[in-house]
Amino acid sequence: MTAETSNHSHFAVAIDGPAASGKSTLARELARRLGLVMVNSGAMYRAVTWKVLRENVDPHDTPAVVGLLDRIDISCGRDGMFSTIAIDGADPGDELRGEDVNQHVSAVSAIPEVRERLIDLQRHYLDHSSIVMEGRDIGSVVFPDTPFKIYVDACAEVRAARRAKDGEVDSVARRDKLDSARKTAPLVVAQGATVLDNSHHTIESGVQAAIDILRNQGLRIE
Ligand code: C5P
Repeated sequence: MTAETSNHSHFAVAIDGPAASGKSTLARELARRLGLVMVNSGAMYRAVTWKVLRENVDPHDTPAVVGLLDRIDISCGRDGMFSTIAIDGADPGDELRGEDVNQHVSAVSAIPEVRERLIDLQRHYLDHSSIVMEGRDIGSVVFPDTPFKIYVDACAEVRAARRAKDGEVDSVARRDKLDSARKTAPLVVAQGATVLDNSHHTIESGVQAAIDILRNQGLRIE
């Protein structure tokens, strides 16, 4: 299965939604089916947060975080169909999903300078390939002009259960509240996005629902 647009240029499929809504799994499967590169923008915010904590910078001290940001090298690439991220040459690996990062990532990602730097890197992915990018502001801020936008939602119980099953300590409700209430690029249903309620889908039926949405939005899928 492949996907293309009528003008054959690179395009982005934007997948936004709250924590643990199942959007990563959906984005990964969609990318696999459609032959696109999957970019996890949350991993970028997590990587900066990881570096902030590693350097003993207070995540709530905006000038200190911005100062650190100016000193670090953030390198985004791809390995096969997945995006990769390294900071000052180091890959944070599994530490990206650790409790400390979960706790502080919303504070760091609320800083406009952090977003500016990462959004620039996110947009550059389109220079090389068509992508499925998942996050919070992909359809609203990063690629507002893409016609291909899905907002993945799931009820609070399903999301909390999903994280617990993954064995992660993560206060999903707290993170969502912070991500939705922040001034810069809050989590919203982007203009033109179709909401997909993923509470009761299997992976297969969720992907099928997403493919139907993208077809309706004009993506040519063969
Ligand atoms: O997607 P994930 O849950 O890994 O994202 C971690 C955090 O990164 C979110 O809670 C949010 O604070 C931030 N984020 C963001 N904008 C994005 C992606 C993630 O602010 N596009």
